[in-house]
Amino acid sequence: MEIGFIGLGNMGFPMARRLVEAGHQLTVFDTRKEAVERLTARGAQAASSPKEVADRVETVMASLPSLQASLEVATGAGGVIEGKRVKRFVDLSTVGSQMAVRIHDLLAKRNIVQIDSPVSGGVGGAEKGTLAVMVSGPRADYETLKPALDVIGKVFFIGEKPGSGQTMKLANNFLSATAMVATSEAVVMGVKSGLDPAVMIDVINAGSGMNTASRDKFPRSVLPRTFDFGFATGLMVKDVRLCLEEMKSLGLSVEVAEAVGRLWETVIREAGPESDFTSAIKPIEKAAGVVVGGAKGSHAAK
Ligand code: NAD
Repeated sequence: MEIGFIGLGNMGFPMARRLVEAGHQLTVFDTRKEAVERLTARGAQAASSPKEVADRVETVMASLPSLQASLEVATGAGGVIEGKRVKRFVDLSTVGSQMAVRIHDLLAKRNIVQIDSPVSGGVGGAEKGTLAVMVSGPRADYETLKPALDVIGKVFFIGEKPGSGQTMKLANNFLSATAMVATSEAVVMGVKSGLDPAVMIDVINAGSGMNTASRDKFPRSVLPRTFDFGFATGLMVKDVRLCLEEMKSLGLSVEVAEAVGRLWETVIREAGPESDFTSAIKPIEKAAGVVVGGAKGSHAAK
């Protein structure tokens, strides 16, 4: 299938690479030249703008870091909306349902179908093709896309309503965000009272406390203190804020989400938006006066 792909970052690059390797013909664009070159070296064609991508193919996918970037790439000047051949815009980014509907409505005026297709499973899942892919949009377009999306992960049809794939994704990421900070508080509690954090993680993973932070993030990026899982704090906070907005717009009570949101606002303030989101433990450690893991093992500050 001929596919356009815009945004070749931590997630976009491995997804686009898998599509090329599966035999799809890709036309790619990114504002970073080196990101484009990594794909053209593998057989993709380069384009000089989102419009040019959309001039050449019927299906344009995007994996972009902010709501503004998705809006501009899809509907701005020189955007997908101006393309001659494009029929559908497939947004793999997390933008929340309100922005998805806004993009949907603008593209609909030019008879371009907007498809939500946010993904979950991190950079590792993108590399292995094991992402959860949450599609919403017209069923016929879903059927057209499914063989290509199968290459990047397990594909779920969420519904025809625009934005519903995004709502699904926010529910998922709220749980991921909660697991990260809750596990940090649990492990810091143990270290403060003298427990070994590596033993704690083994016990949690054999017990009922097991979650994605204890299973993946702590062993790989927190205990060795590499903080290199591949998802920026700024992106996690974007998703937590979007989820809170979505919950409030539905008139829900949001006690857990409010507490989780406050913690993540502290993380972005103290560690910065570019830090890896596994840095979430750092403000919790600092407040407790302990350090978890590392070469010397865990220790309480003197
Ligand atoms: P990233 O910052 O690594 O990649 C974004 C890419 O988009 C970069 O290569 C950047 O140069 C490019 N870009 C930015 N503005 C552009 C524009 N106007 N035109 C063309 N290219 C542009 O981000 P990421 O981690 O790959 O995340 C992308 C999306 O996927 C986000 O919505 C994020 O929330 C979501 N997501 C990320 C993860 C993860 O683990 N990293 C997991 C699931 C979902």
